[in-house]
Amino acid sequence: MAASRETQASSGAAPVLDYEAIIIGAGMSGMYQLYRLREQGMRVRVFEAGTGVGGTWYWNRYPGARFDSESYTYGYSFSKELLQEWSWSEHFAGQPETLRYLNLVADKFDLRRDIQFRSRVAAATYQEDTHSWNVTLADGSHFRSRFLITAIGPLSAPTLPRIEGVDTFQGQSFHTARWPHQPVDFAGKRVAVIGTGATGVQTIQTIAGSVGHLTVFQRTPNWCAPLHNSKIDAETQKKIKSGYPDMFRRCQETFACFLHTPDPRGTFEVSDEEREAFFEKLYAEPGFGIWQGNFRDIVTDRKANAVISDFVARKIRQRVKDPEVAEKLIPKNHGFGTRRVPLETRYYEVYNQDNVELVDITETPIERITPDGIKTGDGEYEFDIIIYATGFDAITGSFDRIDFGGVDGMRLKDKWKDGPRTYLGVLIDGFPNMMMLMGPHTALGNIPRSIEYNVDWVTGLIRHAREFNLTRVEATAAGVTSWTDHVKALGAGLLSNEVNSWMTGYNTNVEGKQTRIIARYSGSAPAYRATCDEVALRRYDELALA
Ligand SMILES: Cc1cc2nc3c(=O)[nH]c(=O)nc-3n(C[C@H](O)[C@H](O)[C@H](O)COP(=O)(O)OP(=O)(O)OC[C@H]3O[C@@H](n4cnc5c(N)ncnc54)[C@H](O)[C@@H]3O)c2cc1C
Repeated sequence: MAASRETQASSGAAPVLDYEAIIIGAGMSGMYQLYRLREQGMRVRVFEAGTGVGGTWYWNRYPGARFDSESYTYGYSFSKELLQEWSWSEHFAGQPETLRYLNLVADKFDLRRDIQFRSRVAAATYQEDTHSWNVTLADGSHFRSRFLITAIGPLSAPTLPRIEGVDTFQGQSFHTARWPHQPVDFAGKRVAVIGTGATGVQTIQTIAGSVGHLTVFQRTPNWCAPLHNSKIDAETQKKIKSGYPDMFRRCQETFACFLHTPDPRGTFEVSDEEREAFFEKLYAEPGFGIWQGNFRDIVTDRKANAVISDFVARKIRQRVKDPEVAEKLIPKNHGFGTRRVPLETRYYEVYNQDNVELVDITETPIERITPDGIKTGDGEYEFDIIIYATGFDAITGSFDRIDFGGVDGMRLKDKWKDGPRTYLGVLIDGFPNMMMLMGPHTALGNIPRSIEYNVDWVTGLIRHAREFNLTRVEATAAGVTSWTDHVKALGAGLLSNEVNSWMTGYNTNVEGKQTRIIARYSGSAPAYRATCDEVALRRYDELALA
């Protein structure tokens, strides 16, 4: 059925398409998109660089990798049967459990038969004569499809530090997002961790007890807050399973799709005592409440931000015995919540251990990696293992690693050289029939909730195109300008956009990424969905359809 539909296409020569849609990436986005398009009877192929499904949870196997979203708010919501079948064991599940979950999803919905693993997409070029995409894999093979859907992840392009000698180290070295599939033996080893973002924090607190000696190289400390993870008992499990509809409804209503949502009060609308008690309560609660459920103005009002920053700084001073070390762990160049808040479990207490040392590389910069270890301005440290917890070229990085060619040979990299330009974070003018899942300018937050919305919206657009025999779907230049301006306006006044971080596209380890950009949509998720819903209701009349 699908093939005859293609040969009836109205444009020029009838194209011979291998697939109706190609999806790049088999993480949560790509898996769900495959499920939805197959439901419509489409011929779909997913190309995935890894050897298995799961994306983030396939690659990030470092010790201690786990959610900071509540597990049950993170899983897919689309299948009632799946929700009842799967039981999360902890409120914040670890990576092995999440990967098991995603493998179960792949099995249950028989997804693997349409996924080609070990297949990195190197280039994708739009063919105007046939209204199709030509996708080239790293091994040189080509495939053609009408639609191209990127599901390549906001945090999937790892970056190593730009330090001389990285290749010369003779011990073991790992990037946290390229962790081996076999366990790494830390017993008695001299270990270095470079980086203290969310990943570094999880790694450090997990291995500190088993290594011989741990040296943490920190450039920018982050404001961390306790995760307070625990097992889910049988009674709670029952409540979770029977309460799913209400819980997902709540996630749909909150600002960033978490169970937590900003307190409507301003920081200075309550007494000092009330404020302190509120902060204490949030600090003692599980999850992102202290960030996402705090007073509404902590990330917009400098004075409010200073008050919560001071509260968390006091906590760090209480928890770290050596006052000098505590000062090094307290961020001085950004306020609480203006970068992603790593959630921790006895992270600060690690620095009270005799076998742990903190090196502030703003004081003694790393000069080079040597065959035996790391040389700083202060001397040379010898290591058996170096762990690079140096994160990702976020949001646009996975796009930069594919050579996307649009209409008239336009390169996406050129189009986005001053920052991404999109329509609803999904479409780009000059790149017809290409749709992005969790691309720039979409709402992040509790990401799977956004993924499900994003996928359903893209599915609706493709359904519309097929129903009306449309073979070319494109955002207009005016639509892209208007959405991009809207996203930029939403970012104005947010303290987080004044700070260098992955959320502002800043990365010292990537050439040309030392200018802050507005990479993500910072309005509320309900507002984002309302705008996209309206576009669909108006039958996509803002798009150029042919
Ligand atoms: C350590 C860690 C913890 C996180 N914890 C949370 C959390 O608690 N809550 C939350 O909401 N979010 C969290 N996230 C964000 C997480 O990335 C998203 O929640 C979600 O998994 C994104 O799914 P995705 O499918 O969009 O992208 P990904 O899971 O990143 O999948 C993208 C896939 O595309 C593939 N790919 C990329 N480029 C190519 C190419 N050129 N060719 C072929 N394949 C390609 C990759 O191999 C990857 O498998 C976390 C991220 C990390 C790194």
